Amino acid sequence: MKIGVIGLGNMGSGMAATLAKKEFTVFGYDLSAQALQAISEHGVTPISQLSDLIPQCDVVILSLPKAEHVQKVCLDEQGLLAHAHSGLIVIDTTTSEAQTSRDVAAQLAIKGVEFIDAPVSGGPAGAASGTMSMVIGGSETTYTKVLPVLQAMSTTQVHIGDVGAGNIAKIANNLLCAAHLITTSEVVNLAAKAGVSPEKVLAGINAGSGRSGVSQVNFPKWILNQSYDSGFTMGLMRKDVGLAQKLAEQYNLSLNLTGKAIEMWQASDSELTDSQDFNEIAKFIDNDLY
Ligand code: NAD
Repeated sequence: MKIGVIGLGNMGSGMAATLAKKEFTVFGYDLSAQALQAISEHGVTPISQLSDLIPQCDVVILSLPKAEHVQKVCLDEQGLLAHAHSGLIVIDTTTSEAQTSRDVAAQLAIKGVEFIDAPVSGGPAGAASGTMSMVIGGSETTYTKVLPVLQAMSTTQVHIGDVGAGNIAKIANNLLCAAHLITTSEVVNLAAKAGVSPEKVLAGINAGSGRSGVSQVNFPKWILNQSYDSGFTMGLMRKDVGLAQKLAEQYNLSLNLTGKAIEMWQASDSELTDSQDFNEIAKFIDNDLY
């Protein structure tokens, strides 16, 4: 199977390298010449024009920053659709918007191109080792056709529903992760002020019912040691909480506690730039402790 990966950043480069290691024929495309150059060292053939890439592929994987990039890459006059053939399958791993997934899928379908949204968790390390988790939206038929590719990139695949459902599940997950970062930073700070060290209170939390992915993974791996090198940026998490807010507005839903978390993530841009690590939100809670 010949696979094209479009977007060779923190996540896409790892996915392309993983697939090449597992003996797929992999081509890579990115606007950045540096990203193209870097991927050639991982068994992936860099291609600098979409018009050369798309006709060679059975499957195209997208790993782009936002929904607007997905729309542009797929539907622009000289985009993927213009060069696509019937039977091509697009796997969009971007954390995008359900409506964009549905619109793009409908346009591609006119030319016989299938689409699934398959946003991921696991960070650059998961992408580079093929151990990500994926939440998937798309028809059972398309999902089954690309399952070997999904399994080569990830250890867990959860088929959520039709096109767009993957992005809804991913946004729900990331809103919780964003909120857990704030609540856990607050309680660890509270315990520290009351005389219990962050390490000790986290050991207690992780043995109890207050634990989460944030307390079990993010705190020991990126926050307490102040490494802040997860490969996921403040800018991307602010995008994701913005998507959650947009979805809530679309359904006339008022978010209370998670709404407050969204406000805090947005307000943090006065102190934390888009390029900083997303775990640095802890500094917004207490700049001395974290
Ligand atoms: P990134 O910014 O590192 O990479 C995006 C890449 O897309 C860049 O190399 C950029 O040059 C390229 N690009 C942008 N527009 C393009 C275009 N029109 N044509 C071709 N290439 C284009 O981002 P990332 O961290 O790899 O994240 C990618 C997606 O995965 C995002 O939606 C993000 O929310 C999601 N995600 C990231 C992580 C993480 O830990 N980094 C984890 C889970 C999900």
